[in-house]
Amino acid sequence: MEGEKETYKDILSSDENSKPMEGVFHSHLEEKVRPYIDLIDSLRLIGIEEDMSLPRIAVIGDQSSGKSSVLEALSGVALPRGSGIVTRCPLELKLRKIRGGVNWRAVISYKDEFIEFYDPSKVEGYVETAQNELAGEGVGICDDLITLEIMAPDVCDLTLIDLPGIARVPVKGQPEDIGHQIKNLILKYIEKNETINLVVVPCNVDIATTEALKMAQEVDPEGKRTLAILTKPDLVDRGTEKNILDIVRNQVIPLSKGYIIVKCRGQKQIDDRLSLTEATRVERDFFRRHEYFSGLLYEDKATVQCLASKLTQDLVDHIKSFYVNVASGCSFKLSSEKWKEHLDSTKSSFHQTVQDVVKEYDLKHRGRELPGFSDYKVFEMVVQRLVSQLKGPAIDTLKVIRETIENQFAEVSNTCFLNYPFLQCVATNKIDNIQSKQEAKVEQRIMEQFEMEQLVYTQDGIYFKTLNETQTTGATEDNFAGFDNRTKYPEMLKAYYEIVSQRLADQVPMLIRYFMLKESAQLLCSEMLGLMDGANVNEVLREESDVSRRRVDMQNRVDRLTMGQEKLSNFV
Ligand code: GDP
Ligand code: MG
Repeated sequence: MEGEKETYKDILSSDENSKPMEGVFHSHLEEKVRPYIDLIDSLRLIGIEEDMSLPRIAVIGDQSSGKSSVLEALSGVALPRGSGIVTRCPLELKLRKIRGGVNWRAVISYKDEFIEFYDPSKVEGYVETAQNELAGEGVGICDDLITLEIMAPDVCDLTLIDLPGIARVPVKGQPEDIGHQIKNLILKYIEKNETINLVVVPCNVDIATTEALKMAQEVDPEGKRTLAILTKPDLVDRGTEKNILDIVRNQVIPLSKGYIIVKCRGQKQIDDRLSLTEATRVERDFFRRHEYFSGLLYEDKATVQCLASKLTQDLVDHIKSFYVNVASGCSFKLSSEKWKEHLDSTKSSFHQTVQDVVKEYDLKHRGRELPGFSDYKVFEMVVQRLVSQLKGPAIDTLKVIRETIENQFAEVSNTCFLNYPFLQCVATNKIDNIQSKQEAKVEQRIMEQFEMEQLVYTQDGIYFKTLNETQTTGATEDNFAGFDNRTKYPEMLKAYYEIVSQRLADQVPMLIRYFMLKESAQLLCSEMLGLMDGANVNEVLREESDVSRRRVDMQNRVDRLTMGQEKLSNFV
């Protein structure tokens, strides 16, 4: 046991030496997050927030529970803190890591204000000014968001939101319904599926009755994006340590993401100007020496550092799944739209093709007539040439969509068969097989469609309608008969091409949609169900070794205990 502790200490101390940074995010974790945050940022830049909310971390809890302190410890940015209602407007803290020897820089923006500054110690002052301007001086609150963007070499790329604390009783100068107002404001942020909710609860209150925990459970009943944080372990009432221990171990109010206990800087430490780096060391020492809580270090349930790594991992997972959803939602639509765009872009640029065809025709077939007198054959050849130029892009569209669809299928199978490697493997193979087969089928159909397009055909009615829309003077079947229409060739060509491109604009995506998506799903479904026929179910449902080992261990334990119990009862 002692030996194990030594190793743990070693790891911790080597960690300390190698990373002299203020925030506590491990740099290797941050490397992992970076591409995702960049992705989110680029989505933000193109204004995608109009369409969907992007992931961020929000802290909720009672007044003075330690929300701002936790954010401060995570980010290394000193925020206004203290007793009473300090955070009065939602504050979005965007941390951006800047590489290449640049200095600390921040921009605070709210309403029409946009202030840039270069001194970290000014943060508190600016945030206070902003709050006073938005919510008035005093104790009022306000829904308006203050955004504080900090660019520095030693922060981690994260977006955090500090929210006003939940007030139970209005203080002097506050409206009667302040509690209600604050709850509505908090709800607006925590109900979004893309927000990870950190519920901050001090150790020295009755945790079961905490309003913030109830609110979080209401908006996230499965607890998929709720993480509880217990603060102020140094202020725990003597004698209640065991209760706290049970709570942190998830044995009292179970949450699927569980609990983490942290110790932040208290008022005295702030007054003593204890730096955040020192505070990290003090925190670790505190837990290491604690009579009851030291074990939590080994269970990965204590310290801000541990919270940081957990959060980063969560954030990565969250962004990944969010991204997969967005991507699969967008891609099919996007690829179909790209196809349509391509068709449209070809409409005005077929002069070259026309000239080429006419030249070829003249070379081969021109007789005694003067140049420029072409006939229907030329028209047909031009159309055929133009249409066959679309074949390549149509097949490309198929390939792009296949990739998206295959990823989607794989994602579903990975989620469903997380603990069943055999099923996962079978599903992956089947998906790949089915997709290949279906792709070949669609390719075949697309080729057939293009063969048919060589026929140059549409209903007369449709043709005249389109021609009317594309030209100024009205065309009817009557005034076409016996008329010399050669000067109208370009317009006629345009009209027919319009018809063809409308036909293909729908036909190609429809073929892909039907065979690659619908029929593939049906095939996969029946093949997966087919596994049950005469198969060895045990083999099919073989679990990941870890899970099954744990199960076997448990089963052995149950057997032993049952036997023990039998022996005992025989003994009596
Ligand atoms: P908020 O209102 O939820 O944002 O809470 P603050 O972060 O402003 O913290 C309220 C007070 O509790 C501040 O004076 C902090 O210094 C203090 N505090 C926060 N965390 C701890 C802790 O772990 N231990 C102790 N002793 N004090 C803490
Ligand atoms: Mg606060």
